[in-house]
Amino acid sequence: MIVGRTTNQESALSIDQQRRLLRYAVIGAGMAGILAAIRLHQKGEQFTVYEKAGRLGGTWRENRYPGLTCDVPAHAYTYSFEPYAEWRAYYAEGAEIQTYFERTAEKYGVMPHIRFNAEVVSCVWDEDEQVWRLELSTGETAVADAVIAASGVLHHPRMPDIEGLDSFAGTALHSARWRDDAPVDGARVGIIGNGSTGVQIVTALQPRAAQLVHFQRSPQWIMPVPYFQYSEEEREAFRRDPALIDAIRNDKEYWANIYRFTQAITDTQGPEIAAIEQLCLDNLENSVRDPALREKLRPNYRAACKRLIYSWSYYDAVQQPNVEVEREAIARVEPEGVRMADGRLHALDTLVLATGFHADRFIRPTTVLGRDGLSLDDVWSVRPTAYYAVAIPGFPNFFMLNGPTGPVGNFSLIDIAERQWAYIDQLLEPLRRGEAESIEPSAQAHAGYEERRIAAAKSTIFGSGCNSWYLDATGVPSSWPWSYEAFAEAMASPVMADYVMDGGQKTACAAE
Ligand code: NAP
Repeated sequence: MIVGRTTNQESALSIDQQRRLLRYAVIGAGMAGILAAIRLHQKGEQFTVYEKAGRLGGTWRENRYPGLTCDVPAHAYTYSFEPYAEWRAYYAEGAEIQTYFERTAEKYGVMPHIRFNAEVVSCVWDEDEQVWRLELSTGETAVADAVIAASGVLHHPRMPDIEGLDSFAGTALHSARWRDDAPVDGARVGIIGNGSTGVQIVTALQPRAAQLVHFQRSPQWIMPVPYFQYSEEEREAFRRDPALIDAIRNDKEYWANIYRFTQAITDTQGPEIAAIEQLCLDNLENSVRDPALREKLRPNYRAACKRLIYSWSYYDAVQQPNVEVEREAIARVEPEGVRMADGRLHALDTLVLATGFHADRFIRPTTVLGRDGLSLDDVWSVRPTAYYAVAIPGFPNFFMLNGPTGPVGNFSLIDIAERQWAYIDQLLEPLRRGEAESIEPSAQAHAGYEERRIAAAKSTIFGSGCNSWYLDATGVPSSWPWSYEAFAEAMASPVMADYVMDGGQKTACAAE
């Protein structure tokens, strides 16, 4: 008998008598973890999803700030197999997206497989048994043949290093820790940060606040985008005819834009990025009437170097009389408000810190120890890295969804995760067939990938001279530096020769 294995004797997968039924630990019940759970459930696999919180949803559970919207068209921000007729507008609000994931998890029967309030504290590879041993925050332990780390990217809030922040007498809160009791209606509100989050919060709070100050160090490129509500008649039409939704999801122009966007990222002197810059500059010129405000809002770095802001209403919001765009450096926070370097004070009741996230954490702080006690923290001491964003040498049967070096940009991460799952699913096949007990990328293949990736990343628009969460600690863009098509092609079929398998035929799984 092979210890730690369930064979197909009692399995629902009895079609192939030689098929091994693996046990999977999925870490995180956000968009990617739910995807993995659904796919595993559909295959009749054994899995548990470990979720640190009491509710699924990941980023859509954690972010509840006013104005929270997904700037990917709603019908494109769904699983490919689960279209959703109920979206209220072209861009969906956070609460609707949370509902979508909850409904989908229910519908596909994965809720009973989720262990809530069970944070994975450590994952340790057991070489003898060829399994992962997990420790949970509850004190329990678990064993898995394969780990799917779907723990998210932007989930450790970055607090700004501003003197006196703790001395603020009003309410200060990070955007990802929104509290409904934070004074905003009729209040004096300051928002630090003008990433996608800060811009959405400013737009939402402008009509509610008495005064609003938007503190921004680096003005943003603002892409004008359409926005409209779906009527009840349109939703009814979507319910009756899902092909209407498919037509939106598969819209040629939508995909052409994505391809053009990644082309723009990789060809910094090409016509695509020039077109994006012109569109955004025209938006600034045509939307902002006051020349002084226009200059305050004019970016001085390349478009798409930071994540492009898609907004149909930000420029309107900042031109309202109760809004001030503040470009002076912040000297410190005082009990009354924010003191600028030139001595002025913005007296505030509420200070919102839309200052982003530690984007290099991924599964950490979970301790992950691979072969021979190899620590993921050590492997990632310079930068988080993974072969094709999915797997790491020395960490067998350990796979990531939305892991380091994956594509980032203004497109749906659901599509990225689905393609990654298709790739991982193929890597798992030799294990399921009993041909191997473990699989991991070879060190050589990974080193070659990283060398090519880093060289390409340095010449992308992300490396063209701006500060953003796309950069690693050494200033190298940490993302996929090639086209979307190249990513799709790579995910479609793994190069198995780049993977090392262990355990081979000796574990070929005879029924116990
Ligand atoms: P972010 O893009 O990292 O922006 C952080 C902002 O805080 C920047 O404007 C930064 O200024 C500013 N900042 C940080 N520290 C500061 C300090 N000490 N003093 C002054 N300003 C400071 O974070 P985010 O806006 O939360 O967005 C993160 C990502 O989440 C986005 O890029 C996107 O991928 C995702 N997101 C997506 C959506 C969506 O609609 N799909 C919505 C929200 C978020 P500098 O630029 O000068 O550094």
